[in-house]
Amino acid sequence: MSRVTYLSFPVSGHINPSLSLITELVRRGEHVNYYALERFRPVIEATGATFCAYRFDEAFPEQGPGPFAQFDTTVDVLLTLSHSVLAHHLEAVRSFQPAYIIHDSFAPWGRFLAQVLHLPTVVSVPSIAVNQQIAEGQAGIQQMNDTQAAPLPAWWEHTQQRLAALAGQFGLPRLYNPYELLHAYGDLNFVYTSRLFQPLADSFDTEHFQFVGPCLRTPLSSEEPAFPFEALDERPLLYISLGTAYNDRAIFFQTCMEAFADSLWQVVMAIGQTPRTALETVPDNFIVQASVPQLDLLRRTTLFITHGGMNSVSEALFSDVPLLIVPQWADQFWIAQRAAELGAAQVLPNEQVTSEQLRQSVEHIAAHREYAEAARKIGTSLRMAGGVQKAVDVIEAFKQASEREEKQS
Ligand code: UDP
Repeated sequence: MSRVTYLSFPVSGHINPSLSLITELVRRGEHVNYYALERFRPVIEATGATFCAYRFDEAFPEQGPGPFAQFDTTVDVLLTLSHSVLAHHLEAVRSFQPAYIIHDSFAPWGRFLAQVLHLPTVVSVPSIAVNQQIAEGQAGIQQMNDTQAAPLPAWWEHTQQRLAALAGQFGLPRLYNPYELLHAYGDLNFVYTSRLFQPLADSFDTEHFQFVGPCLRTPLSSEEPAFPFEALDERPLLYISLGTAYNDRAIFFQTCMEAFADSLWQVVMAIGQTPRTALETVPDNFIVQASVPQLDLLRRTTLFITHGGMNSVSEALFSDVPLLIVPQWADQFWIAQRAAELGAAQVLPNEQVTSEQLRQSVEHIAAHREYAEAARKIGTSLRMAGGVQKAVDVIEAFKQASEREEKQS
């Protein structure tokens, strides 16, 4: 048994894929201290890990995109959060004496902390993995870059000063390129997809990158939203959701209602933070809720209109469900692009998407079996990728190798 510190990026899309992994690590005897925000305490304690509350000096921006819409403001926030974690948690982690650290690839403070304490790192990558080749070659990445303003020279200078100050204050061994903060990879990195779905999978070495497929959480009945499954009938089910982070989108949901009112579809629409009052009369063939038990619902779904969050796309493909993706921000452009390239999705631009476009795309996907077949092919690759058991086996081997190395040095 070892002690392990887990440093999350505390939003659902990043925490969800780690939950079953932590449950299995605890089941095999590891003692895990898991850092997150208070609202995640129940799901984290349900894994058997010990919940530890992050102390951030500034309010954590929970609703996206906020500062995460732009590269420079993202780096600013990640640096501020990193400073808080090092200032408030370094000593507690040091005295806990973990054998290794697991952190989210969007939580660079995990890597900083590990470097100060000379600990090996396992990294949870909740999106596709990105390297130079992908950053330079992917159309999706280009599209994302087009939505971002280039930082000014004064920002680069100020950021280098902030990095130098952080390194000086906490004894970090080297300065970082700001891009690395967004993809803070470590000694061993888990990507929750298959080699088939990961673009240019062969350009990642298997010693450091493992594509283990989705590690789906076991839904907790007390934490899952209630849903009237008995109301679902024989009609094909169209499920619509924009995920958890950026979903206050009344116009989009209204457009969906116009597109599919009185159609042959039974529609379930998860509207997140969108106020119900912002939607006009809900059509009879719609079930509208703030959130739904997505994993269970996907098992019944024929087609999913999604924002292209990595979890949503992986969970849908795991259940062989084809997709219509309307990417909103960040990595959703790349994920959408990849699902479309592999034939399992159509992609529509977010800006001013019309009800006619939505209807036509949905009808096109439903009428062409190739989409469902491509989804099934990717689904098979995801189910065969090894999942939680493989991930934890690899962590055990990694831990033993790290211990051997430490003894020899
Ligand atoms: N989710 C859910 N019910 C909902 C909406 C989302 O359970 O009504 C879950 C979904 O299963 C997934 C996560 O929230 O695990 C969303 O993550 P994703 O990466 O797709 O998007 P994000 O929320 O990070 O934008």
